[in-house]
Amino acid sequence: MRPWEASGAPVAVLGGTFNPIHNGHLRSALELVEHLGLARLHLMPCATPPHRETPQCPAARRADMVELAIGGEPRLRCDRRELQRTGTSWTIDSLEELRAEYGPQRSLSLVMGCDAVQGLDRWHRWQALLEFAHIVVIARPGWHLPAQGAVATWLAAHGVAEPSALQQRPAGGVLVLQLRPLAISSTEIRALCASGRSPRYLLPEPVLDYIERHQLYAAATDTHF
Ligand code: ATP
Repeated sequence: MRPWEASGAPVAVLGGTFNPIHNGHLRSALELVEHLGLARLHLMPCATPPHRETPQCPAARRADMVELAIGGEPRLRCDRRELQRTGTSWTIDSLEELRAEYGPQRSLSLVMGCDAVQGLDRWHRWQALLEFAHIVVIARPGWHLPAQGAVATWLAAHGVAEPSALQQRPAGGVLVLQLRPLAISSTEIRALCASGRSPRYLLPEPVLDYIERHQLYAAATDTHF
């Protein structure tokens, strides 16, 4: 058992399609670890996303890129659990599993960018998410939190002001965090590849090598793959 596994320090999960993973994800991940005092942050590629088209790039390839990107950072982990389930990848199922693995007392957070929060009320059993975890919302260039509607009301009802509040209970709070803004998206990286331009320095070099080796995005004629 590694030291932090015994420590009971908080853990978190950042889900996404990671098509491909980029430095916006990675820098946010590292800052989250440090701001929240996390023992571990699971980066969890989604196999069959419920609210967007399933990417053409296979989930196993997307997970391989996550693995390559995190390299030697022991506090980040590539979590392939959604690749092992069949059917739609419901986040709540993964949270339920993580809760069972870490036990009822461990502080567990689900991290999402502002863009993901916009459609939160369309997620399967979205209001039950807080029974299993806290929610940490990270600001993202070009996106704002919803100002009205069901999600805005829910955010206000469960909001906490400080990261320390997430350490005091296992689940149930919503924290909005401002991290270093990096205007990088997977969509833009795919578009650069498809048009023959280089995405170099927007993502780790081993991930770029992998994309080139497997010709993941070059041959496509549009950006929705
Ligand atoms: P796409 O452009 O294909 O929609 P993406 O760049 O948004 O992809 P995802 O894999 O969908 O990447 O993102 C996973 C999670 O990471 C989401 O919650 C998203 O909001 C967040 N995220 C992605 N890019 C950034 C960034 N540059 N800064 C902060 N959060 C980000």
